[in-house]
Amino acid sequence: IGGIDGAIAGKIRRRGEQFGAASVLFYERPIEMVSASGVHLFDADGRRYLDVYNNVPSVGHCHPKVVAAIAAQAAALNIHTRYLTRPVEAYAERLLATFPAPLTNLLMTCTGSESNDLALRIANSFTGARGIVVTEAAYHGNTAAVTEISPSSLLRRRPAAHVRTIPAPDIAAGGDVGARFAAALKAAIADLEAQGLGFAGLVVDTIFSSDGIHADPPGFLRDAAGIVREAGGLFVADEVQPGFGRTGAGFWGFERHGLVPDIVTMGKPMGNGFPMGGVVTRPELLDRFCAETGYFNTFGGNPVAAAAGLAVLDVIAEEGLIDHAQVVGARLKEGLEALMPRHAAIGAVRGAGLFIGLDLIDAEDGSPDAALTSHVINAMKERGILIGAAGLHGNTLKIRPPLPFAEDHAALFTDTLDAILAER
Ligand code: PMP
Repeated sequence: IGGIDGAIAGKIRRRGEQFGAASVLFYERPIEMVSASGVHLFDADGRRYLDVYNNVPSVGHCHPKVVAAIAAQAAALNIHTRYLTRPVEAYAERLLATFPAPLTNLLMTCTGSESNDLALRIANSFTGARGIVVTEAAYHGNTAAVTEISPSSLLRRRPAAHVRTIPAPDIAAGGDVGARFAAALKAAIADLEAQGLGFAGLVVDTIFSSDGIHADPPGFLRDAAGIVREAGGLFVADEVQPGFGRTGAGFWGFERHGLVPDIVTMGKPMGNGFPMGGVVTRPELLDRFCAETGYFNTFGGNPVAAAAGLAVLDVIAEEGLIDHAQVVGARLKEGLEALMPRHAAIGAVRGAGLFIGLDLIDAEDGSPDAALTSHVINAMKERGILIGAAGLHGNTLKIRPPLPFAEDHAALFTDTLDAILAER
């Protein structure tokens, strides 16, 4: 492991031996993390990093209220999910109150992948159809069924026969984003029908994270929702990334689009790091599914998870994190846009709340510049800032910090990006 000093090189090698080909670490020089608090992480040398990447610890790393809730419930009762328990009932009531009227049933899981897997099963059982439409660089999780609808993880494998992909709704393509997206969806549905597969549903991350973050204009997904309904399929909103207030416009990403999905899936920030996921849907969809196969999850919705989830909901409300995401996110976006006249390498800045995508392009020909993106990510890390990439071409900086991210953190990030690009 060239250029990496002794102790850490040994740990990287050992990890490679233990985890084999599945061992993937961030950075040319990986970091050994030891602790975290708020919007910062600390490595084994005591070095502090500003977190502009992690959306799981959404209310802040190791938030004391969430940690205390987990510890207290773990000390009182930690059991599977087939007894009545007060934390679970309280959690369901609080979480369901964030949803519009017809969405009144909750299934609890441990991960986003399980949630999307259930959504597929519900959609298949309700429609009797197989066909699913997703976006070109979507990621929806890691089960067998969900990998089939995650083109970004198929690598060199061919997409499954029952899955159609459509381009991400990129405003840069010009014209009416919603109409273009809806037309592509309509064509994909027609193709599924023509192949005899039928149309079970559209599964979309409502902020299109792995497609490079596409948020605007608000409402562009409404046309697609209409097409889904006309075709007799279900609209599945994957809220694993935008959910729990990140977009700064309500609790859920679909709210920015003024639509009500048939099924909503969630995960990541739900337990601020405690493994939690969920599916929210209408009773009639669940009735049909449960009559066919039923549902049991040993850990999904255990009392400790519910306690973690409740604390997360409390913190979001008490600390006003949704409004905060909107205010700080808007400042951050303005700051990044202000860099554009100075750096031809910044091709676009997009996003909502504290979820922003920034495209890095070749200044000469405007083509996506994944090498520059990788350089920026590694240079940021050397300066104590954690950031990642997304998008079909891997050239979109994925700016997605814990929600307590403040304006001075935003300024530090913007100034650091400015300096790194100026050095090139
Ligand atoms: N959906 C989306 C949009 C995601 O980003 C992810 C995780 N990156 C998942 C689903 C899967 O969640 P998990 O890793 O918890 O299974």
